[in-house]
Amino acid sequence: MVVRCLPEAARRILEDDSEYFLVQALSTPCLNAIQGAKGIYLEDVNGRQIIDFHGNNVNQVGYANPKILAAAWQQMQVLPFCPGHYTSAAATALASKLHQLAPVPRAKVMLARGAAEAMAMAQEVARLTTGRWKTVSLRGGLHGATLDTLSLGGQPGTTAGLGLLHVAPYNLERCLASCSGDCHLGCLDFLEDVLEREGDVGALIVEPIGSSDVRIHPQGYLQRVQEICRSHGCLLVVDETAIAWGRTGKMFAIEHYPGVEPDMMVLGEGLGAGLFPISALLVNPALDVMAPSPVDHFTFEKSPVGAAVALAMIDVLERVSLVAEAERKGAFVRALLERLAERHPVMGPIRQIGLLVGFGIRQPGGDGWPEAAEALLYASLLRGLNFRVAEGHVCLWTPPLIAGYGDLDAAAKILDAALAGVERELLAGEDTWTPSC
Ligand SMILES: [Zn+2]
Repeated sequence: MVVRCLPEAARRILEDDSEYFLVQALSTPCLNAIQGAKGIYLEDVNGRQIIDFHGNNVNQVGYANPKILAAAWQQMQVLPFCPGHYTSAAATALASKLHQLAPVPRAKVMLARGAAEAMAMAQEVARLTTGRWKTVSLRGGLHGATLDTLSLGGQPGTTAGLGLLHVAPYNLERCLASCSGDCHLGCLDFLEDVLEREGDVGALIVEPIGSSDVRIHPQGYLQRVQEICRSHGCLLVVDETAIAWGRTGKMFAIEHYPGVEPDMMVLGEGLGAGLFPISALLVNPALDVMAPSPVDHFTFEKSPVGAAVALAMIDVLERVSLVAEAERKGAFVRALLERLAERHPVMGPIRQIGLLVGFGIRQPGGDGWPEAAEALLYASLLRGLNFRVAEGHVCLWTPPLIAGYGDLDAAAKILDAALAGVERELLAGEDTWTPSC
């Protein structure tokens, strides 16, 4: 829809993209072609700057941070790769840093490339150490894009024909057990029932805060999940791939839930700062009993360049106090969006924790309105703001933590104008929204 508004150079690249890449949802065809990424901005092939509040969750410290680039370049020149059976000071320095930081007590570390690999390792560790092969996860969770990890999330359209089972997640609006307020012990009885009946579930995998719809668990919920897991010999695996590294106002999202000490934690995406794919699995030392099994025998398992990038990224986060500031910036964004919601009837409930922000787009009657959410995304892209639409109608903003208050304000102004344009046409009864290039 917005492609016709793009200049010739961009359209040619998009045509090549469709010609040579396999066509598939979310990847090809694309919306635009870019030639640069720096700080909070993408630059398209026409030289236009686009504020990136999507960034696939790799953008906590923004793009092309000079300190991280320098660390990568220095490591590339000295030791670009570490073959199997060897280690390096870069890899052990990162492992030691993760060991110190992580809320998994005395964690042992494994490194890989994408977080899907780390999630696969978590399932392998669970099977090898518990002797149980089953895994339970919550429907709608986001745990990766490989066949095994997509199936964990049970996202609509990803599990057709695979015969996988999931339990319902926390849902304040429509709790299956009619829980109310902060009490969600009732719906967790379903989880307990599944673990009891199956008897051989090795691991439960959960995002501490739902990343695709900003599902913030009430206090007591994850603590009860931990209790249920412990009493059934099931390991608790938390997936922080999309939300760690300060996104929620704490270094790790699980830190919002005192008393929860996961058996394993999966980290990725932001760890490599958009420069190098690196992920980590942190494991309780009691599970360090798999010596004969090559769980982590990947080609890039202890990449010195990946480790140098990750260490530099953590250093930037810590030096600039970006994590503490994310909470204040998040409150600022929330106030901006609440003001917009007063004037734009299509804006639905706002959910926010730190700089993980979601707001629904709904029909005047109150139901989610996917067509309007999509139109709003396109209208925003044309004005220079990128974000993600999840669950059909939830606009998800994950700004880089380095975004300044002025940047956040500029994004809200773009959204305001885009909302006005979309509302003018769709609320006036037009069937489709037409972009004005
Ligand atoms: Zn409930």
